[in-house]
Amino acid sequence: MTTTLAIANQKGGVAKTTTVASIGAALAELGHSVLLVDLDAQACLTFSLGIDPEDLELSVHHVLTKGLDPSEVIITTDDGVDLVPATIELARAEAELLTRTGREHVIKTMIETLEEDGHEYDWVLLDCPPSLGVMTVAALTAADGVLIPLQCETLSHRGVGQLLDTVHDVRRFTNRKLEVWGVLPTLYDGRTNHARTVLETISETYDLEVIEPPIPKTIKFAEAPAAGRSILATSRSSKGARAYREAAENLVARSKRPKSRKKKAGKAS
Ligand code: ADP
Ligand code: MG
Repeated sequence: MTTTLAIANQKGGVAKTTTVASIGAALAELGHSVLLVDLDAQACLTFSLGIDPEDLELSVHHVLTKGLDPSEVIITTDDGVDLVPATIELARAEAELLTRTGREHVIKTMIETLEEDGHEYDWVLLDCPPSLGVMTVAALTAADGVLIPLQCETLSHRGVGQLLDTVHDVRRFTNRKLEVWGVLPTLYDGRTNHARTVLETISETYDLEVIEPPIPKTIKFAEAPAAGRSILATSRSSKGARAYREAAENLVARSKRPKSRKKKAGKAS
């Protein structure tokens, strides 16, 4: 059984990509098979896993808009996870898909095609772009759950409501089984009460679970992408790496929880 998670927040710089790379590596350490999908034309995930997007001839763009077999673009990375890479060409995909029938389902179809080809993963993590456009909606349509990385600052709740509205629409129209797994506090400065207060306010206002532990803000994260490995490899026992390992264990536990039945399509909880 595959668990597909969309890591989404239309705000940039909240550690979506870092979370995908780090949780992916942590799940692989735990012995799970993992596929990461780069859905951002900036290709930061691809780059941070040691692949130069400019060297790629084929990428997720060709799968989503040209019907290329996804098996042909998968790369096995040094972090022990597989990757569907992106390149800047993905910037065109959004516009190309806009007029296409079934555009919400392109990522779901990609994952199903991989399964038919014998690539069945325990986890598929979707690294969403910083927008609520076609790509994010398609990711939510393919997902069992959505995880929202959140930087706990005063204005960080702006946008959470909009994201949840989009989730609500997706549940009504394209994916009834989508569940909000919760927020993951990122870039967390535990020295201040402020971050904790913001987190509590947001989780209460929107009735969101908080995935523990908060990921501390540390300079180590800045160094990892240049090395082409996640922080779990570049800085094995740093507190950031330990936090992501623990968060990954909590996600594994969460994946075993029975699906909530009260959240029927069309109704917020
Ligand atoms: P997003 O994908 O949401 O735009 P990124 O994962 O690219 O965000 O992170 C934005 C920046 O913040 C990157 O430079 C990244 O290295 C840095 N970063 C991410 N998590 C942390 C952290 N816990 N501590 C310090 N810097 C971080
Ligand atoms: Mg990103």
